[in-house]
Amino acid sequence: MEMAVGHGYDVHRVESVAGEGGVVLGGVAIPWDRRIVAHSDGDVVIHALCDALLGAAGLGDIGTHFPDDEAAWADADSRVFLRRVRALCAEGGWTLSNADITVIAEAPRLAPHVSAMRERLGEDLDCPAHRVNVKATTHEGLGAIGRGEGIAACAVVLLRRPDPASR
Ligand code: MG
Repeated sequence: MEMAVGHGYDVHRVESVAGEGGVVLGGVAIPWDRRIVAHSDGDVVIHALCDALLGAAGLGDIGTHFPDDEAAWADADSRVFLRRVRALCAEGGWTLSNADITVIAEAPRLAPHVSAMRERLGEDLDCPAHRVNVKATTHEGLGAIGRGEGIAACAVVLLRRPDPASR
């Protein structure tokens, strides 16, 4: 069995909005009085996860596959990215062993949404939710993330595929 580890990181700016806010993290819509500034829906959890998967599979990064100056991806649902990335990994013979994700945000409170994120990500990755771990932490008030100016996420994944001789 061949194994490959991958790491991904993403951050997006947050802005206050008059009227309707809300963020999408890990494919889950979370009510909020602010929103994420991004070309797509700004789902940092999925972006970090896609980069980790692409990294492990040796397939570059999310910006190469889904350029943020391409109109097709304006306000895109990031779950579309994740499903495509999963398909690319599958084409290479890769299966996900597990993923571990950390979201770093002062707000909103994410604990109540973590299990929904795991379910949602598991659906898109075609694997059971217990293989996709999501953790949330704050930045203890330190720096830009600590001031609530942005939300960041990092992800680590392990992929596996049969040895070349048996493929
Ligand atoms: Mg991003």
